Amino acid sequence: MIEIKNLGLSYGNHLALSDVSLHVEKGKTMVVCGPSGSGKSTLLRCINGLERFQSGEIFVDNFSVQGGHTDIYDLRARIGMVFQHFELYPHKTVLDNLILAPVKVRKMTGTEARKKAMAILEQVGIADQANKYPATLSGGQQQRAAIARALAMEPQVMLFDEPTSALDPEMIKEVLDVMAGLTRSGMTMVVVTHEMGFARRAADEIVFMDKGRIVEKNNTRDFFARP
Ligand code: ADP
Ligand code: ADP
Repeated sequence: MIEIKNLGLSYGNHLALSDVSLHVEKGKTMVVCGPSGSGKSTLLRCINGLERFQSGEIFVDNFSVQGGHTDIYDLRARIGMVFQHFELYPHKTVLDNLILAPVKVRKMTGTEARKKAMAILEQVGIADQANKYPATLSGGQQQRAAIARALAMEPQVMLFDEPTSALDPEMIKEVLDVMAGLTRSGMTMVVVTHEMGFARRAADEIVFMDKGRIVEKNNTRDFFARP
């Protein structure tokens, strides 16, 4: 589903990514870890077409992310991304946050979008918050709403950039549980996180980055078995 070949990206003369090659099969979850500044966010932004890279190639569902196909816009709309800070629309209810893009971009009818949105809110455990405004939700609920909003677009791939690092400890588990549920449901995911418990539980493969390079890439069992 995601194929990255020899990706390279510099900011000026600062090398942010160097010769990064990765392959994520449909339905698999890859966890990316590594120190701050190692290029993890930049990698996710490249996959999502938010960043222009100077060398290499990225294919998502066989479409070249920097290739200039018209279909790429549709594909980008099918890559869901969740950030550290929840970025919900503050002046819209949780439900309206979920139906806006599906109606505008996916051309769903309001009724259809609302029905799908309620099912997704049910799935992430916050259906009872549907008509509330984001600021009245806990951090964990807001992040689950942000995940739900991404899911409402029916993405083929979900990207997570440190989704729990702004949360209080007691809220981390509820977000990781939702993510682990997504993994089990067969979503293709790339997750940047320091939560190694989640990695052990949910990842198929783990990648460790340092200074813009992949320094280790392994299946989860071998990653944790290493000395
Ligand atoms: P991580 O997500 O692992 O913390 P990033 O991908 O955010 O790492 O950053 C990788 C490197 O690129 C860091 O050295 C960071 O300072 C640098 N960087 C990231 N974004 C920019 C930018 N827009 N302009 C210049 N340098 C950047
Ligand atoms: P994170 O650690 O979650 O990646 P950062 O605080 O490093 O977040 O980066 C936040 C934003 O600032 C990102 O959009 C990134 O591209 C940008 N950024 C990071 N490092 C630099 C840098 N050295 N120069 C310019 N922009 C940067």
